[in-house]
Amino acid sequence: MIPWQPHPRRSRCWLPRPTRLASPVSLHFVTLVPSALLLQPSEGGTLAGAGPPEFPLGARLPVSQEVLYRKWRPQRFADVAGQEPITTTLRHAVAGGTPAHAYLFTGPRGTGKTSTGRILAKAVNCTAAVDGEPCDACPSCEAFATGRTMDTIIELDAASNRGIDEVRAMREAAGIQPGGGRYKVYLIDEVHMLTDAAFNALLKTLEEPPPHIIFVLATTEAHRIPATIVSRCQRFDFRRINLQAVVDRLAVVAAGEGITVAPGGLEAVARQATGSLRDAVNLLDQLVAYDGVTLDMEAVQRGLGLVVDSRTTELARAMVTKDLGTGLTLLSAARDDGVEIRSFVREVVSTLRALLMLRAGAGDGLPLSEVQRTELGTLAKETQTGAIVGALRAFGSLDFAGDPYDSLPAEIAFASFAVGLGEESAAPVAMTPTPPPSGRPAAPATRGGAQRAPGNARPGQPQQSPQPPQARPSQAQGGEQQRAGAGEGARRQEAAAAGSGPPPRTLALPDEAQASPELVAARAQWATIRERARKRSIKAGSLLAQAQVKQFADDSIEVGFQFRSHLDKVQEDANVMLAIREAVAETMGRPIAVVPVLWEALHAAGAAAAASASPSPSAPRGAPEPSSAPSAPRAGASGGAGPGGSGTGGHLLEEALKYGAVPVEE
Ligand SMILES: [Zn+2]
Repeated sequence: MIPWQPHPRRSRCWLPRPTRLASPVSLHFVTLVPSALLLQPSEGGTLAGAGPPEFPLGARLPVSQEVLYRKWRPQRFADVAGQEPITTTLRHAVAGGTPAHAYLFTGPRGTGKTSTGRILAKAVNCTAAVDGEPCDACPSCEAFATGRTMDTIIELDAASNRGIDEVRAMREAAGIQPGGGRYKVYLIDEVHMLTDAAFNALLKTLEEPPPHIIFVLATTEAHRIPATIVSRCQRFDFRRINLQAVVDRLAVVAAGEGITVAPGGLEAVARQATGSLRDAVNLLDQLVAYDGVTLDMEAVQRGLGLVVDSRTTELARAMVTKDLGTGLTLLSAARDDGVEIRSFVREVVSTLRALLMLRAGAGDGLPLSEVQRTELGTLAKETQTGAIVGALRAFGSLDFAGDPYDSLPAEIAFASFAVGLGEESAAPVAMTPTPPPSGRPAAPATRGGAQRAPGNARPGQPQQSPQPPQARPSQAQGGEQQRAGAGEGARRQEAAAAGSGPPPRTLALPDEAQASPELVAARAQWATIRERARKRSIKAGSLLAQAQVKQFADDSIEVGFQFRSHLDKVQEDANVMLAIREAVAETMGRPIAVVPVLWEALHAAGAAAAASASPSPSAPRGAPEPSSAPSAPRAGASGGAGPGGSGTGGHLLEEALKYGAVPVEE
């Protein structure tokens, strides 16, 4: 089997990719793109040579961060990770000389849709294909490898070129026989972005396709494709790639690039990428950019925004021993360090699962380091199975409501479990009834049983629950990490134990009353912007966790930071600024100037909001807020809480605001 080949060319014209936009904004984009760039064979070397056009602030996607991914694109069907049923079918169609006239590739981003489309184009034009695989040696394959295809593949990014003119031009060109091969393959990415008129024009071509034409329509949102189009395509649903397949590909890339990663490091990267090979390779790329080509486990975890192992183990220990003070201290310390709490909790669930398996005597196959095996083995002996199951239940069903940095859900879950609420009612602790689309930690042991086979995982999230925890080096300085916020932890412990429950999600900002509808709308996008910035730069994500949109106008956004030190860090680091600009541009669908500013009032507003949210004088002090979510734990009612929880709801509110909780419009 031929190993993956480095891809020698830049093959795409990177353009801003607006999502969910009204057409006026997209027209804005089209005017930015020289028309000569549209509808050219984008595999060709000419575009790469010319380089992408310079756009205003933030208009370009992070080319630099995709270098590894594009270099290591699969070149044969056999190299496409985790989509064997699809690639096998396509290979047979090529081998039999019966490719369909139109394919619809749907599925999440980073699962291989475009790569497969390109391999298909290469394979159908290969003059010496073996079992449907391109030979990578004939003149046609060489043209693909060197980016000199004339018109055997024509790529169109519908996110940028969604109008009828593009599709009409495509139709006219489609009538001409390909110069460099048997088939012209039109690869239309993000096809759901086409306008209705463009879809109609496309439909006409699909109804009477010239025999030398193959359409490959790729989309992440199949439900937005008109049924008339879908019915004329052979449809393939690309699945999220399972963890092992992602790890295997990462290993190939790492070996080819001379990157050395500590055992378990690639698994950690793959887990973070939740089934997207593109995300996984880009994460690896970022880690190397930070720490060089030799990555120990600490570098990987730090880079991914995870916490070092001692803290996940410590928190698992605190849970099963119901040590409220230690647990809340660990959580607040992790949050203070800018750790993504959702990933942190996922790691803790992983550790708890290992604990359960060790307890049940089924831990032989767990990939644990010797130190960890000893440590967890001892803990397992001392712990009741029921406590582990209860802890898994408490953390396994956590809902972060789209804000993975918010430590409040985890604190509430922990506190209610520790004071005995978590076991009595199996009701999951959720901040809102709507689960986030992905990345939600699963509860492996309480649902399918601890020894559920990996193959039984649900297709939507195959790589999460069944995976055993990774071996990690033990950390001697675990105790030190509890240093900061010990006093605060105690206060928070008191707060949580007093049962104030989750605060209402409508937190007031300093200027809430005067905020324009545009500003409110921009703030509603803040969690998305932050997450996208984090994907580009982990540091940017951490810094944005404690910021908020201060002002918003058509062409500029003021990002307010509570702390001078954070503002300085943002202004000093060009990469962080770039990540923020790109995240804003991607979310808002157009380039927007980003102006970081100090917004100390945001900090003060936490206190103000807390005061305004305090119970009214007639209400008992420390009683639950009437507007708390229905599923909120009410420790006060259970009688298990300590006294003296006055003003605790306000305190938690302040904390939540201070550390980046985002107001949500009810
Ligand atoms: Zn060939």
